[in-house]
Amino acid sequence: MQTLARPVLMPPRLPTLFVSHGSPMFALEPGIAGPRLAALARDLPRPRAIVVVSPHWMTRHPRVGASAQPETIHDFGGFPEPLYRLQYPAPGERAVAARAAACLREAGWPAELDEDRGLDHGVWVPLMHMYPEANVPVVPVSLPAGLDGAGAWAFGQALAPLADEGILVLGSGSLTHNLQDVFGTRSGAGQPGGAGGYALAFPAWVQQVVETGPLTRLQAIMEEAPGAHRAHPTTEHLWPLLVAAGAAREPQTNSYIEGGIDLDVLSMSSALFGQRWAPV
Ligand code: ZN
Repeated sequence: MQTLARPVLMPPRLPTLFVSHGSPMFALEPGIAGPRLAALARDLPRPRAIVVVSPHWMTRHPRVGASAQPETIHDFGGFPEPLYRLQYPAPGERAVAARAAACLREAGWPAELDEDRGLDHGVWVPLMHMYPEANVPVVPVSLPAGLDGAGAWAFGQALAPLADEGILVLGSGSLTHNLQDVFGTRSGAGQPGGAGGYALAFPAWVQQVVETGPLTRLQAIMEEAPGAHRAHPTTEHLWPLLVAAGAAREPQTNSYIEGGIDLDVLSMSSALFGQRWAPV
């Protein structure tokens, strides 16, 4: 039998992605962001695995989920019953978890594997739109507490080698995230001159930086972006944006993906780093 030398299959280099995961209801109400994320996922090379950093898992030092079959965590209360029945049964992948932890340790972060961690809603809600068949392995990574902009960027940089290995590095957060405004008075919110005008002005600043660069400007986002402190009274839902940007291999070519505004003040927009993409 003739044996032919087979070319070594290199994994595709993947862009990195920030998604706004919004309210848990995003799982049932896709709006315009859901179909756009689904279309993006269809256009990207199929990842070998997805490494997701979500602010709904915060720890002092980074932890990396190594469960072979991570459970779907319904980490929210007071929502309609059908939401609690949703399951996202993607497998984990220990080898990828170990690789992610090794990358973090190499960059000075004392990362540990976590054998039991499941997928919080910041992980599974957007992935339900992107990969509804739940057949790409998912590895959750915790967001270290106490980061600043430079720290969040550096955390992403530590994960950058994964993008060369066919792994999608995904930061899941919310481009604006003021829950007091979501649950409080909403009059004029989301309108340019209204109480929630920041829900337009802050994402517009991010869009401009994403599209024209340099991305490193994002490190000063809390000082420079209009309405930053109103958009993010606490920064944990913002830092996944910087994690994804910091992990980008080709930070000159990026795309802002408009996702609309949910509940008057929650921006659902996302950003792709390292590749141009637009919905058709
Ligand atoms: Zn959240």
